[in-house]
Amino acid sequence: GKVDVECEMMVLGAGPGGYSAAFRSADLGMDTVLIERYATLGGVCLNVGCIPSKALLHVAAMIDEAASMAKHGVTFAQPNVDIDGLRAYKDTVVGKMTGGLAGMAKARKVNVVQGVGQFVSPNHIEVTAGDGSKKVIGFKKAIIAAGSSVVKLPFVPEDPRIVDSTGALELRGIPKKMLVIGGGIIGLEMAHVYSTLGARIDVVEMMDGLMQGPDRDMVKVWQKFNEHRFDKIMTKTKTVGVEALAEGIKVSFEAAEAGAAAPEPQLYDMVLVAVGRSPNGGKIAADKAGVTVTERGFIAVDGQMRTNVPHIFAIGDLVGQPMLAHKAVHEAHVAAEAAHGEKSFFDVKVIPSVAYTDPEVAWVGITEEEAKAKGIKLEKGHFPWAASGRAVANGRDEGFTKLLFDAETHRIVGGGIVGTHAGDMIGEIALAIEMGADGVDIGKTIHPHPTLGESIGMAAEVYEGVCTDLP
Ligand code: FAD
Repeated sequence: GKVDVECEMMVLGAGPGGYSAAFRSADLGMDTVLIERYATLGGVCLNVGCIPSKALLHVAAMIDEAASMAKHGVTFAQPNVDIDGLRAYKDTVVGKMTGGLAGMAKARKVNVVQGVGQFVSPNHIEVTAGDGSKKVIGFKKAIIAAGSSVVKLPFVPEDPRIVDSTGALELRGIPKKMLVIGGGIIGLEMAHVYSTLGARIDVVEMMDGLMQGPDRDMVKVWQKFNEHRFDKIMTKTKTVGVEALAEGIKVSFEAAEAGAAAPEPQLYDMVLVAVGRSPNGGKIAADKAGVTVTERGFIAVDGQMRTNVPHIFAIGDLVGQPMLAHKAVHEAHVAAEAAHGEKSFFDVKVIPSVAYTDPEVAWVGITEEEAKAKGIKLEKGHFPWAASGRAVANGRDEGFTKLLFDAETHRIVGGGIVGTHAGDMIGEIALAIEMGADGVDIGKTIHPHPTLGESIGMAAEVYEGVCTDLP
């Protein structure tokens, strides 16, 4: 057949994984084509994920903080939210970031081809543009970075009042009563935004607690601080029916455990379905390239992000959990370098996670619950923020910092921070784990005073028994 473009490296999908892979490939001197179905680069993260959600969460945090100033003797007028203005702000943030990427692609002479890509052979992919026109791109090497999509519940009807995370980020209006189906990070971040903007929130979750992943002691701090936002927190509860009625969206529930009582059906003005994401591996005709895709749509890779086909790599959400942007970016660099013949490996000890709620919940490495389940012995350094001058001065001392050490080697293997700006600080604990630091290394590192980050050094000092004068 006819080949329209020949290249050395073809990258499929322009999310954090794909654009990072394309940029690194181009920087290494490979002639690179980047295929993306949407008009803007950046994928889920920049367009409908990490970045727009953080723009809204920032505004929500400012509104809440202004209100909390009353405790400190300063009162502001009630906020007057112009939802169109807020949406425009969020769109501006996204536009700056995606526009920046377009500039970076151009500067590197990455050939961005817009359209939906489907493999036709191990060395060719066909791209169908919006107008139906097709192009075949021949490549010597490829990196698949087609990401993931929201999981839909089969019984949920189409209705403008029922949204996924993308719909919630469109900020069409503020409901009075909103249900969040799925108590994970994405659902809770959106719950936070809508709650601050005036919605009453119910949340329903199958598991026995909200925000699975971090230790319960951290989630408890978040939950206590945010209880006032929720009318009902329904855990161990399944959503079994959703009906779009004129008077509202009627949702019915079932107890996850047999015999337990289920909540009564409820009416909502808005329902957010946030029950997870599934990989796009099954939607790109990978079989035509000989690439093996699991039944769920994941693509298996080795330590260099190589698929079962030696010249084709895969990265990001579609190679497995955790589905996080910073993981995708690191994998992207490994894949591009490996494709270029370098001995790069994805060889990280840990990948940090953050819930950008208020307070933020951030964790990295092993958790106490995981260690318990696996029979791993840990020792802990725990520093309550009530003892942090900065946290107290900020009027936000509900949080804590904890460090987890291997009981035998005394090296740090995990840690968690709950409190304001926790996400900005967790990187230090990740670094300590990667470097094989012990409590002395961390505790004897001088942290600036008074900062929230100092709590990491203090937690290490608590562990070493140096700091015992806590309240
Ligand atoms: P994606 O970002 O999914 O990009 C894949 C790209 O490939 C898309 O642009 C898609 O259009 C394109 N594509 C797919 N198939 C084709 C095809 N056949 N042809 C052409 N193009 C195709 N992660 C964090 O780390 N921090 C956060 O704060 C965070 N917040 C989030 C908030 C929300 C609401 C959501 C939904 C996700 C959030 N995530 C966050 C997760 C993060 O967005 C993903 O982990 C990340 O985007 C994955 O990057 P990726 O490159 O693997 O894929």
